[in-house]
Amino acid sequence: MEVDFSTEDLDEVASLIARSSCTVALTGAGVSTPSGIPDFRGPQGVWRVVDPEKFDVEYFYRNPDEVWDLFVQYLLPAFDVKPNPAHHALAELERLGKLCAVITQNVDMLHQAAGSKNVIELHGALRDAVCINCGARYPLAEALKRRRAGAPRCPKCGGVLKPDVVFFGEPLPQQALKEAFMLAEMAEVFLAVGTSLAVYPANQLPITAKKRGAKLVIINADETFYDFFADYIFRGKVEEVLPALVARVKDILF
Ligand code: NAD
Repeated sequence: MEVDFSTEDLDEVASLIARSSCTVALTGAGVSTPSGIPDFRGPQGVWRVVDPEKFDVEYFYRNPDEVWDLFVQYLLPAFDVKPNPAHHALAELERLGKLCAVITQNVDMLHQAAGSKNVIELHGALRDAVCINCGARYPLAEALKRRRAGAPRCPKCGGVLKPDVVFFGEPLPQQALKEAFMLAEMAEVFLAVGTSLAVYPANQLPITAKKRGAKLVIINADETFYDFFADYIFRGKVEEVLPALVARVKDILF
């Protein structure tokens, strides 16, 4: 991977963050690839094996047993991993009082595992399963334990349970989305990290932040859809750039 950024840029962004009262990070699948979760569309991605149309919500409603079997066989095992230095660096930035929140498109809960407290999950999380009939919510682990094959059922009403992650064709959780846009409006520095910024509406957050006066910093291995909009671009590995950046912030603060 080509590393393409200067130490001057690193110093400038570190000092912007150190002086800011609100820095916000938006993270995507690239933050978790160093933990071993492939980004879904990459060469090792799940969508090479599983047809993504099967994770369309309408398909799920028609074929919940098939989708649960695919989910348990192909998707869940990929998520049995630990946080990496990129997650830890963001958690450290929050502990330093410099990161208001992480807004994530990931469903893996690795930010919380690293110690981040204020995490806005735009696409849900692999934490719970929800009954599509009565709305009752259960820990995903409990639903998996109860399941033999196919879809687990709601103990209260017998309805089908659905993993509480956003499927294709489903709206995003409205409260999370509202909070995310409020944070984008408040941000003085907005970090877009490990995301191609291809997925709407998350990709509107950096635009909102920038229009409200934030400095936009993109940290990603490849080009993103909004590079032309950024004040700083760090073309490199998140697990290297973020720890280096946070170390510089600490140098400035202490
Ligand atoms: P994306 O796949 O569109 O983009 C990921 C970006 O990360 C790519 O541009 C890639 O170049 C970059 N990248 C990969 N590894 C990197 C590294 N080590 N350092 C720096 N950059 C790296 O991901 P997205 O924007 O998050 O959108 C995909 C959707 O798939 C999201 O909606 C997300 O919910 C879902 N998803 C989630 C997970 C997860 O929870 N971990 C994993 C895969 C997909």
